[in-house]
Amino acid sequence: MTEPCIITVAITGALPTKEDTPAVPVTPEEQIESTHEAYEAGASLVHIHVRNEDQTPGSDPEKYHAIQEGVKKHCPGMIIQFSTGGRGRDQDQRGGMLHHRPDMASLATGSVNFPSNIYENPPDFVEALASKMLEFNVKPEIEVFDVAMLYNAANLVKKGLLKAPVHLQFVLGIPNALPARRSLLEFLIKEREDVLPGSTWAAAGIARHQFDVNQWCLELGGHCRTGLEDNIKFDRDRLAVSNAELVTKIVDIAGDYGRRPATPAQAREILGLAGRD
Ligand code: ZN
Repeated sequence: MTEPCIITVAITGALPTKEDTPAVPVTPEEQIESTHEAYEAGASLVHIHVRNEDQTPGSDPEKYHAIQEGVKKHCPGMIIQFSTGGRGRDQDQRGGMLHHRPDMASLATGSVNFPSNIYENPPDFVEALASKMLEFNVKPEIEVFDVAMLYNAANLVKKGLLKAPVHLQFVLGIPNALPARRSLLEFLIKEREDVLPGSTWAAAGIARHQFDVNQWCLELGGHCRTGLEDNIKFDRDRLAVSNAELVTKIVDIAGDYGRRPATPAQAREILGLAGRD
């Protein structure tokens, strides 16, 4: 028996440019195409950022909606997750597309230093964003960039601002934030069982850590995230150059860990998204 593993593909992100990473999709058409290739390769969840015409991070709700519609049409059942991440966006824009009711949206539950800036998520902003997700029936993915964010998520459950069981994403390998250390991931998984019983989890390894973290997740019973968002420059001259190829790297080794890629229907079941429409 193999256990299904939800493979998330983070197709675009805020940082890679065509110069850094030629395969990064930046227009809605390119994003739908790249998502479809990743879906065919075994991804069941897509994490979406939008870009402006000049490739800088965008926030246009209609662009989010266009990608959402394209993915729904071409990738039946795939879970659609909008990013509410902050880079290059004002706080009031970050939840400005939630009325389109994606299946999920990312939610960081605290602030953290990034390599050259502060990723600001003040308590009142986090609570307002969580409330908005409740209002539109959007399941948050809790982005854990620092250890306190795990406990902050548990407090939001107590306050009724997050519905249990929550889904967590541990982000490992951003300079100044959590390092990509397996001992740390094991600690987070253990703590999660205590403070957020029944929660599901995945982890993302940034840059050169991506594939190591994928393997830890397969082995430790979590779900996997890959994609060019997290893979800036690193893989260009190595094994993978597209989102689909990064997904395939996980699919190819999943069986070695007693895992298989979750179908979209299985992924929805695991995350409690089945029959929500
Ligand atoms: Zn993102």
